Amino acid sequence: MMIRFAIVPLLLALNFSMCQKHETVSQNGQPASASSPTPGAATGGSPGVAPVAASPKIKKPVVDQTAQTIIFCYHRLVDKIRYPGTEITPAAFEAQMKELKDRGITVISMQDLLAWKRGEKNIPPRCAVITFDDGWKSQYEVAWPIMKKYGYPFTMFIYTEGVRGGALGGGEAITWEQLGDMRDNGVDIEAHTATHQDLREGHNIMLASTGGKRTRTKLTGPQYEQWMQNEVVGSKQLLEQRLGIKVNCFAVPFGNYNEHVKEIARNAGYEAMFTVYGQPITFTSPMDSIGRYAIEANKPKVFEDAVKMIGASTSGGAPVAEVGAADLATQPADGETVRTALPLIKANLSAIGQIEPGSVQMRVSGLGVVPATYDPKTGTVSYQVTQKLREKSCSVFVSAKSQGKKVEAHWTFGIEESATVPAAPAKPTPKK
Ligand SMILES: [Zn+2]
Repeated sequence: MMIRFAIVPLLLALNFSMCQKHETVSQNGQPASASSPTPGAATGGSPGVAPVAASPKIKKPVVDQTAQTIIFCYHRLVDKIRYPGTEITPAAFEAQMKELKDRGITVISMQDLLAWKRGEKNIPPRCAVITFDDGWKSQYEVAWPIMKKYGYPFTMFIYTEGVRGGALGGGEAITWEQLGDMRDNGVDIEAHTATHQDLREGHNIMLASTGGKRTRTKLTGPQYEQWMQNEVVGSKQLLEQRLGIKVNCFAVPFGNYNEHVKEIARNAGYEAMFTVYGQPITFTSPMDSIGRYAIEANKPKVFEDAVKMIGASTSGGAPVAEVGAADLATQPADGETVRTALPLIKANLSAIGQIEPGSVQMRVSGLGVVPATYDPKTGTVSYQVTQKLREKSCSVFVSAKSQGKKVEAHWTFGIEESATVPAAPAKPTPKK
């Protein structure tokens, strides 16, 4: 988030209606109430920010609904990258953890994020949540010490058959003892199915028996439902029983889900479902498709983009006013999923006011700055994508100068998987 308070009056004068998603100041112009970033402290209500007193029956704190969180998803930490899609070096990982600190982005726990979404607890205006998927021992041996060094909480998403000793848990897998140690030290442990496969009915799956025998098959009807019960419900129960914990989060393998998968997860008692469609999480983001940024060794830009999505560095840089994408009638719309990897991207900048000629710029994730056309008559900036977008989610940044100030808007839309260029070669998930 890049609003400098000094320019807020200017924005108000221009009658900007900033959408809630991008708002970082409260109505009265005060910095967001969690300005002293002590999660939980605000629940008692601090002087000057205690509207709770007005209606004594409301016990919930008034949380800062303008706060934003980005959630990162990491896999293995290794010195030599062999599978860049799921690996990162310890040095690169630590540099990212440091960057969050340097940029003033507070790392909060998943449970604090959920408490905030429930309206029970405040969080600082700009936060990050760190998650690790799949249960690799390097997460215990390498990532955890780094997280301790920075004092960061984090969440482990575990698929139960991938824990050491399970049908899919080899020598690189985390052990139940290591998970117990993490639990004892406050690490949040959550579910990521039993066998880590595409959960949508009709997809090829692998059935692995404890004897090591594997069968490839497609399950439908009652057989599929039964298999799903074990993947979604059974894995939760196993984690809860083996570790004596409460599991309320569910990360969907590969981010592949549909309404039926969501329904089963909801019925299983999960409070939140997570995908890998990275996007800033706001107070109103739906709980059944919370996007995370999957960080890969060969795509350092994903981390940079994610960090930029919720704010600039606290020092330096020209003042930038952030405009809500909704005000720009963007096409595709924020959060929309399109069926083509060659979309026409458009935004109407007339809400910004007088635009300085030649100052309009459009950036597209995966492409960088694109040769967009700006029509001063209609105020429309547009770009027809000519090279198929490769990723399932695409972020667009539009900026322009207005009255000497840089104004920026960004939004993210999805591309149906079948439309994207398949990553070559197939998903490199190393066997444990
Ligand atoms: Zn996974």
